[in-house]
Amino acid sequence: MDIHEYQAKEILKSFGVTVPDGALAYSPEQAAYRAREMGGNRWVVKAQVHAGGRGKAGGVKLCSSDHEILDVCSDMFGMKLVTHQTGPEGKGVYRVYVEAATAFDREIYLGFVLDRSSQRIMIVASAEGGMEIEEISATRPDSIVRQTVEPAVGLRDFQAREIAFALGIPAELTQQMVRTLQGCYRAFTDLDATMVEINPLVITSDQRIMALDAKMTFDTNALFRHPQISELRDKSQEDPRESRAADRGLAYIGLSGNIGCIVNGAGLAMATMDTIKLAGGEPANFLDIGGGATPERVAKAFRLVTSDKNVQAVLVNIFAGINRCDWVAEGVVQALKMEPVDVPVIVRLAGTNVEEGQKILAKSGLPIIRANSLMEAATRAVTAWKNDTAQNTKLRAAK
Ligand code: GDP
Ligand code: MN
Repeated sequence: MDIHEYQAKEILKSFGVTVPDGALAYSPEQAAYRAREMGGNRWVVKAQVHAGGRGKAGGVKLCSSDHEILDVCSDMFGMKLVTHQTGPEGKGVYRVYVEAATAFDREIYLGFVLDRSSQRIMIVASAEGGMEIEEISATRPDSIVRQTVEPAVGLRDFQAREIAFALGIPAELTQQMVRTLQGCYRAFTDLDATMVEINPLVITSDQRIMALDAKMTFDTNALFRHPQISELRDKSQEDPRESRAADRGLAYIGLSGNIGCIVNGAGLAMATMDTIKLAGGEPANFLDIGGGATPERVAKAFRLVTSDKNVQAVLVNIFAGINRCDWVAEGVVQALKMEPVDVPVIVRLAGTNVEEGQKILAKSGLPIIRANSLMEAATRAVTAWKNDTAQNTKLRAAK
């Protein structure tokens, strides 16, 4: 789960990281009011969206009066901010963060990520801050410092000092840098984060180490332990297809193709999508119905998968181990009788009681396309999608 910059800054501040003074606003009037309240004469107005790259996209503006803040905010509020991280549809701006502007000498990149190959938290830093890490690793790969943290002992001060040294932080600021690194590390581990990124971390003109930006992502599987983090969820920033599924206890991932996938198990979902691609198609999404396949659950799955307008065929791929194919088949038949689906449905069953399952599908009288192997199912789904598309095009042409 992602959170907003202002929320990440509040968290990091409580772990000892220095951040600028700031105030959140839900309207242009509030932004101007809160800037006056804060005082000073230069502010940065920052669109709060779950994506980086706001600076280049017009989501970060320097202002020198409350009138200017009002103007800037009138354009920002309600806009769909499109950055290189949002995709072409952008993300809605409904909150802005107004901060006291900071004068700085240097920008540093600092990131904490899970390094899956070493199974440890990895600190990634670069003296070339301000740029995105992808850009840094393409243009100045030698400037990147990497350190993994031994989980049994945590981040040691000497390691933090080594990072400070490698970044060329002036000796008199080493202690501040160590405190910043330790604060981020503790926030990461205490709150079950999967990513903490500060870009830029700056050395201010008055020689303080300060986080000018902050991004945190949390492990959704550990959220139950942190109700105060769950509360920070902002649904306006999520893919509506995915939040609908999450609210119904289904694991759903939205993609951009035309074939909807209902499967049991994430591994099978990966294999299903690979096979669809191999057969010349593109998955629109996948939904993992997990172990149970009651008619209600299957109906819910169909409803979700087909609510995506791009879906032109649905492939159901079930491997029944603990589950039983006849139960799943019964679930599919009842679900389609309850709520007919207006795109071709392809079903492939394998595992326990597969013959009984096939019989139930065959006897149902429903136009279900059956397949025995995954390759056959994927090929049929791609063919069905292409025929369906061709037919729709003809219909539109005829109108
Ligand atoms: P991002 O583009 O979404 O990563 O947003 P950032 O918060 O990183 O802001 C983009 C850029 O704006 C930063 O890299 C800074 O160079 C600049 N910036 C942000 N806050 C301030 C500030 O208080 N003072 C100054 N001078 N520049 C700032
Ligand atoms: Mn940034």
